[in-house]
Amino acid sequence: MDFLRELGIEDKNSGASTGQEWTKTKNQGELEVISPIDGRGIASVYSASGEDLEKILRKAEEAFHFWCMVPAPKRGEIVRQIGLRVRAYQKPLGRLVTLEMGKPIQESWGEVQEMIDICDFAVGQSRQLWGFTMHSERPRHRMYEQYHPLGIVGGITTFNFPVAVWSWNAMIAAVCGDVVLWKPSSKTPLTAIAVQRVIGQVLRENHFPEGVFNVIIGRGAEVGERILNDRRIPLISITGSTALGRHVSEVVGGRLGRTILELGGNNAIIITAEADLKLALPAVVFGAVGTAGQRCTTTRRIIIHDEVYGQFTTALVKAYQGVRIGNPLEERNHMGPLVDKAAVETYLQALDRVRKAGGRVLYGGKVLGGPGFESGCYVAPTLAEAENHWEIVQEETFAPILYLIRYSGEVKNAIALHNAVPQGLSSAIFSNHLREVEEFLSHQGSDCGIANVNIGTSGAEIGGAFGGEKETGGGRESGSDAWKAYMRRQTNTLNWGTDMPLAQGIKFEL
Ligand code: NAD
Repeated sequence: MDFLRELGIEDKNSGASTGQEWTKTKNQGELEVISPIDGRGIASVYSASGEDLEKILRKAEEAFHFWCMVPAPKRGEIVRQIGLRVRAYQKPLGRLVTLEMGKPIQESWGEVQEMIDICDFAVGQSRQLWGFTMHSERPRHRMYEQYHPLGIVGGITTFNFPVAVWSWNAMIAAVCGDVVLWKPSSKTPLTAIAVQRVIGQVLRENHFPEGVFNVIIGRGAEVGERILNDRRIPLISITGSTALGRHVSEVVGGRLGRTILELGGNNAIIITAEADLKLALPAVVFGAVGTAGQRCTTTRRIIIHDEVYGQFTTALVKAYQGVRIGNPLEERNHMGPLVDKAAVETYLQALDRVRKAGGRVLYGGKVLGGPGFESGCYVAPTLAEAENHWEIVQEETFAPILYLIRYSGEVKNAIALHNAVPQGLSSAIFSNHLREVEEFLSHQGSDCGIANVNIGTSGAEIGGAFGGEKETGGGRESGSDAWKAYMRRQTNTLNWGTDMPLAQGIKFEL
């Protein structure tokens, strides 16, 4: 495939790089990358070793001394060039994302657009790494806060946003003066290699030393665990499942390192009796079916008022009948395969548990077969009537299963159901009633990091800080003031007088 060559992907690829240089390790096993679209091999990657990681960390430490002293707006200039270069590769990069993990091509191009957007955002941010100035209680003293770079930032990312999640972290961390080490998901290593090659071009043109942007692909025990345990990495940003986040938090917390945790969601939309149902329908379908239900912000539950339950579920079943499932490289299709056969197994097990709990499947609920579906990774998007407290509904199943839950009476009853799950990422309400909307957005309302009105739960813009509460981990990435997590804060007090007064009026005379 020509676009793979254009991106620098070979049949066999090295698994680690410090910028432009790639390691030569071949004795740690080979990772075969299979496309869920047709079950065919795309290419392979030589797993990196612990020794490779050690070399990268040494290079990264050296590079940090250089990079942190480059003025922030000049760092922004490098990120600006990266953004321009990614624009040139948007189409092939998007194709690779689709080929490797199966999301529809429109969504993949949108994901690469997100990287471009975050580059633009980071360029502006590079001139706004500001701190507050405050008045001192002591005469002729000045007090202020400033932000310094942290050092090496480790980024562990998931398969579902193989470009965007990394760039949210890396581009912001880079303008903050940090150097970055990326451990991508072993389900999407080729996208990471392609991104690294694009960045490598910019580094080469600017005669940059190795070690500012690093990538490593290797086994969890050999590479992942070492990253978590290494004190040279003061911040680990992890996007992944709650179970993994808990482990990362324990290991990194054990050495008092910092973490940004972006973990699982169990997102719901409330449809009140005052909702505009025509507006709600496409938002629910895109939220539940987009990326085949494999977004952290995927709509997993809809909590529908009794008065509109029948009407809305009938419309939903009809809309699901119109969802076009097939090769995600074809622009007309809405939904492609799940990422692999293990994900299909998880989907089936979840449905089994729903049925055992007494749930009724209104649509879908099966694996698709026949021409075009030979990879075994295509499933029908599913609508199932369920109750919020069921164990399976309390969990995040990374598949297109949407639970329909009824409520009656006031909106507070829907909010209570909404919040009664362990996760707290994204939420939405459809209502044209001011009081319902304000209640949902109030302190007593949604307990999530994202709360939307009359739009769905997925498809966040980069300008706002992104992340969630409770078991979603509490981290924030991307826009707003999320940059502060990538820097260390310092409070400075400076005496420009000739006396030495102490704070709080303490007397200490020599
Ligand atoms: P996962 O938890 O299986 O893996 C995430 C990453 O951790 C991968 O790169 C994996 O290789 C790595 N990893 C696994 N074991 C490790 C170890 N011992 N040490 C270090 N790294 C290790 O998650 P996944 O299946 O790739 O992604 C799906 C999950 O990610 C879902 O739960 C989804 O909600 C979540 N997610 C969250 C957000 C968010 O912003 N909150 C965004 C996207 C995805």
